[in-house]
Amino acid sequence: MVRSGIRPTLVDEAAESGGQIFRRQPKEFKRSPQVVYGFDAKSAIEEHRKFDEIAEKIDTRLGTMVCGIENQRLYLFNGAEVDFLDFDRLILATGAFDTVIPLPGWTLPGVFTLGGAQVSLKTQGCAVGKRIVFLGASPLLPYTAFQYCMAGAEVGGILETTSLSSKLAALPEMLKHSKGRKGVSMMAKLVLKGIPLRLGVKPLRIEGNKSVKSIVFLDSRGRENCWDCDAVIMGYGFKSENQLADLAGCRLYFEAQTNEWRVENDGEGRTTLPYVYVAGDGNGVKGWESARIEGELAANSLLKDLNLVSNMSEEIGVKNKLKKLSFFRKALDRAFPYPHHLVAEIEDSTIVCRCELISAGEIRQASKVSGEFEINRIKSFCRVGMGRCQGRICGSTTAEILRLLQGTSLEAVGHFRAQSPVKPIPTQNFCIFE
Ligand SMILES: Cc1cc2nc3c(=O)[nH]c(=O)nc-3n(C[C@H](O)[C@H](O)[C@H](O)COP(=O)(O)OP(=O)(O)OC[C@H]3O[C@@H](n4cnc5c(N)ncnc54)[C@H](O)[C@@H]3O)c2cc1C
Repeated sequence: MVRSGIRPTLVDEAAESGGQIFRRQPKEFKRSPQVVYGFDAKSAIEEHRKFDEIAEKIDTRLGTMVCGIENQRLYLFNGAEVDFLDFDRLILATGAFDTVIPLPGWTLPGVFTLGGAQVSLKTQGCAVGKRIVFLGASPLLPYTAFQYCMAGAEVGGILETTSLSSKLAALPEMLKHSKGRKGVSMMAKLVLKGIPLRLGVKPLRIEGNKSVKSIVFLDSRGRENCWDCDAVIMGYGFKSENQLADLAGCRLYFEAQTNEWRVENDGEGRTTLPYVYVAGDGNGVKGWESARIEGELAANSLLKDLNLVSNMSEEIGVKNKLKKLSFFRKALDRAFPYPHHLVAEIEDSTIVCRCELISAGEIRQASKVSGEFEINRIKSFCRVGMGRCQGRICGSTTAEILRLLQGTSLEAVGHFRAQSPVKPIPTQNFCIFE
């Protein structure tokens, strides 16, 4: 866009540019890119260089959260006050957020999401505990464990709910991609370092009084194990952050293959609203290389729609690359499938919505008594998803619980409707919303 003579405004709630994967450390920190980004260091340096070169040609507003959208106006919160910014075109590239599956003890201090634990390490160089166990089903689980290991933290082990057979089935496709090969070699390095890796586990509970003391699980042969640790990092993949698109009025659709609500678009970023475009993980989680290409495609569409000259060189080549990357994404989904069965087994007493302290039993009860299963109806009956996180954390579990209880589909259950402000702001700032 800059090359086409536009001075765009970039709004990001992060303190520094770089997005999630190339998140920058504070300026005073002196760790090398190799230490912070591992085998993505070269790409990180390149992306930072590209951004820095054009930084002065962009109106950059860091540390600024978009908390609402109304027609062609954004509501911004910079930590002190709410302001608004009118736009004629908007590209939403809001990334993704962590998926967790609640189990007894998951709200204890010492339990972190994978993303949160990565942010802590990347930006602050801080490990979240002294002896850390990784739990879940995500390619980023071994990756983050590797990063923690390299940073000198004690990794107590990796507990994967995925079976060995899923991994083996996905292996041939994974090995076709350099990232897949890197992932496999990283797993091997972890095992060679003596980090215990258990596949096909069933997590039972996280134990501790005031903070995490241990994690109890069944191994693939059904034997109960207890590992001591003071932190558990949990991750079951990511979901698109599309609340702003929903709030803007873009049409969403249910993508059955990934069980995800996505922003309807023409494959080049154009949404159902003529002035809103979408790119990156916010348009389905596909990884940073796809996100970069989609960003370019969305900018290209926007420029074309404004009858401006686009500098995008190779539109067809770029689309082919995107297609190739989608095969890798499918292989990852196969290697790390979401464990639906664990949601079915969540005990009634387990808290699902930690903002409002709503248990799985309360959600089931609300649905049974009312006979309803549409997620927003259930929200109004029992307050699930009504708290600070606006259902980001509990949304996918709640939807699964309702689907399983009522024998319906995730599509029929729906998704939590986005509300302003999408993330918490002080009540004194509410008055800006009409
Ligand atoms: C927690 C996490 C950890 C990850 N770690 C890795 C990894 O180690 N390796 C890997 O290959 N991939 C990783 N990924 C995936 C990778 O980061 C993404 O595929 C890639 O960054 C997608 O780029 P994007 O531009 O779509 O989104 P992002 O890079 O996530 O950028 C989205 C940006 O939008 C901003 N934003 C979101 N909502 C708002 C709002 N309301 N107001 C203002 N700003 C907002 C965020 O601050 C962020 O900077 C990770 C993803 C997540 C979510």
